[in-house]
Amino acid sequence: MRSDRAGPGFGDPPDNGKLAAMGMPSLLRKVFLVDLLQGLKVTFRYQDPKEIYTEQYPLERPQVAERYRGAPRLNVNPDTDETMCIACDLCALACPENLIVVSSERNEKTRRKELTNFTYDLSRCMFCGLCEDACPTDALELTQDFELASYTRDGAIWDRETLEKGPQPTLYRK
Ligand code: SF4
Ligand code: SF4
Repeated sequence: MRSDRAGPGFGDPPDNGKLAAMGMPSLLRKVFLVDLLQGLKVTFRYQDPKEIYTEQYPLERPQVAERYRGAPRLNVNPDTDETMCIACDLCALACPENLIVVSSERNEKTRRKELTNFTYDLSRCMFCGLCEDACPTDALELTQDFELASYTRDGAIWDRETLEKGPQPTLYRK
C-alpha cells in the first residue's frame, strides 16, 4: 500500500526522466558504488594502529584537566585527624541547589559548634564549585575523581563518613 507522501519510496521503480537528468557520470557512480567505496577507503585508512585513539579505560585512567571539579571530599587535619569543617554552614548557603546539609551541636565546654553530620546529594550537584569557594577553612574540596556512578539513588547521597574517606576509585590491573 502506498502512502500519500510526495517522493518515491524504497522499492519504487526508478523514474526514467530523473535518470536521464542525472547524466551518465552520476549514474555510473551509483552503479559502481563509487561513493560507498570512497567512504570505506577513509574507514580503512583509520584502521592503522597509529591512528587509533581509543582510551584503554579503566586499565588506563585518563588525565583530567587541572581545573576539573569532581567528587567532593571533606578534609581532615592530617596531624590531628579532626575535621577541618567548623560547621559554619557557608557552603550550604552558597549552594544554588540547596543540596548540602550541615548538622552541628554546640560543645558546652569549649562553647564551639562541632560538626555532627554532613550530607551532600551528588545527584543534584552541578559541580559549579561555589560551595568550595565559600568554605573559609578549605574543608570542602571538589577532587579530580570522576567515577560517581552508584546503583541506587540513595548511593548518590554521601554522608560525613563517605565524604571524609574521599573517593575510592577501583584500581584495575593490566
Ligand atoms: S558544586 Fe555547586 S551545586 Fe554542587 S554542592 Fe557545590 S555549590 Fe552546590
Ligand atoms: S563552608 Fe566549609 S567549614 Fe563551613 S560548613 Fe561548609 S565545609 Fe564546613
